[in-house]
Amino acid sequence: MGYNAFQILKEGLTGNKGWRPVWRDPEPKSEYDIIIIGGGGHGLSTAYYLAKNHGLTNIAVIEKGYIGGGNVGRNTTIVRANYLLPGNSEFYSHSLKLWESMEQDLNYNAMHSARGLINLFHSDGQRDAFSRRGNMMCNQGDDAILLDREGVRKHLPYLDFENHRFPVYGGLYHPRGGTARHDAVAWGYARGADQLGVDIIQQCEVTGIDVHDGKVQGVQTSRGTIRAKRVGIVVAGRSSQVAAMAGLEVPIESHILQAFVTEGLKPTVDHVVSFGMGHFYLSQSDKGGLVFGGDLDFYASYAQRGNLPMMEHVMEAGMSLVPAIGKAKVLRSWGGIMDMTPDGSFIIDRTSVDGLYMDCGWCYGGFKAVPASGWCMAHLMAEDKLHEVAAKHTFERFRTGHGLMDEEGTGSQHNLH
Ligand SMILES: Cc1cc2nc3c(=O)[nH]c(=O)nc-3n(C[C@H](O)[C@H](O)[C@H](O)COP(=O)(O)OP(=O)(O)OC[C@H]3O[C@@H](n4cnc5c(N)ncnc54)[C@H](O)[C@@H]3O)c2cc1C
Repeated sequence: MGYNAFQILKEGLTGNKGWRPVWRDPEPKSEYDIIIIGGGGHGLSTAYYLAKNHGLTNIAVIEKGYIGGGNVGRNTTIVRANYLLPGNSEFYSHSLKLWESMEQDLNYNAMHSARGLINLFHSDGQRDAFSRRGNMMCNQGDDAILLDREGVRKHLPYLDFENHRFPVYGGLYHPRGGTARHDAVAWGYARGADQLGVDIIQQCEVTGIDVHDGKVQGVQTSRGTIRAKRVGIVVAGRSSQVAAMAGLEVPIESHILQAFVTEGLKPTVDHVVSFGMGHFYLSQSDKGGLVFGGDLDFYASYAQRGNLPMMEHVMEAGMSLVPAIGKAKVLRSWGGIMDMTPDGSFIIDRTSVDGLYMDCGWCYGGFKAVPASGWCMAHLMAEDKLHEVAAKHTFERFRTGHGLMDEEGTGSQHNLH
């Protein structure tokens, strides 16, 4: 079913009875050419680009829950390309370009909104670091503008400019950064993949990975055995558990990240604002809720909910940056499971099992990566070659220590990135 203005008008005038489910609900076949484990943003975009860019359509995406039920529907929706290090810089730049044409490509409204993102800085040293980052962004062909304190005040008049602990010195403005409606991104890719012939199988948990003579043979699922010569593990926070089904150990710890949303308010916050010093960031959804979050809860866990100490920390940081936020009622909070690597950068690579590939280690930044991750993982699975914009993101850097991409400069500790 295509979407266009005429159809919306017709359906609106005839009781909206003509809409149909936008992807099928097929029974799993006994064999596919390719199985993707995980129907999150990355798994669905991988399936879509395998079909669209490489003409491979005998594919199943196996999802244990429902489409959009994982992190792809739990994040705070920030999309940006403001990375510093070679490897990350070109990858996220590629991703942002795909975001900018995604809705036309999928014919699906993902509410991508390039409302601009401002990273605040609070010291001379931080200003230097952000200038350097901004130069790197411009060299990469992306956009960055260094704002002084008055420049920030013009865009974000509601900040507390009298905060003496963290005085606002300025900000790095990234106008093409912004947000998108997270679950619509999953639905758009699911619909696009389904239209190209991909089977999306929900409520089907992978419980084992069959390996014989070092080669992948298929998967065991709650709905029976499914054979395939190529299998992609794309399960975000469950990466180490699913990799263990094939006897693999991966350098990932799973940690909880929480987010919060307030009651709907009139339009106030036009940008995405990041207050790294205080571990707090903020945007306003199209429904009017203030959406904000902070750092990881500081213990490893597979629970999809967080705890009170981090909640308190986030509220305090929010109050110190935007005192008016204290007037808004928080309606909901939730948590998601983050697949944290030791250097904070992701992995798209083959594994030591022939035909078994992994896309993981997105830490808390994988939403913005959804298009490029699928693009590069599809390239790898179709051609058995690393894509040039993700070529540095292999397991090898953790074996040798060469080529680590520690964007935050926090050292090799999973939960500090
Ligand atoms: C609170 C929060 C805020 C965030 N904010 C941002 C942000 O602003 N910007 C940003 O870029 N990123 C953000 N992220 C990170 C981002 O959401 C994730 O990195 C990204 O969504 C992970 O990839 P995914 O969409 O494929 O994961 P998921 O949606 O989690 O997909 C993985 C899927 O695998 C399935 N699965 C797991 N095990 C099995 C199995 N055995 N069998 C079958 N299926 C299985 C799961 O059910 C799940 O649906 C945030 C995350 C959270 C939790």
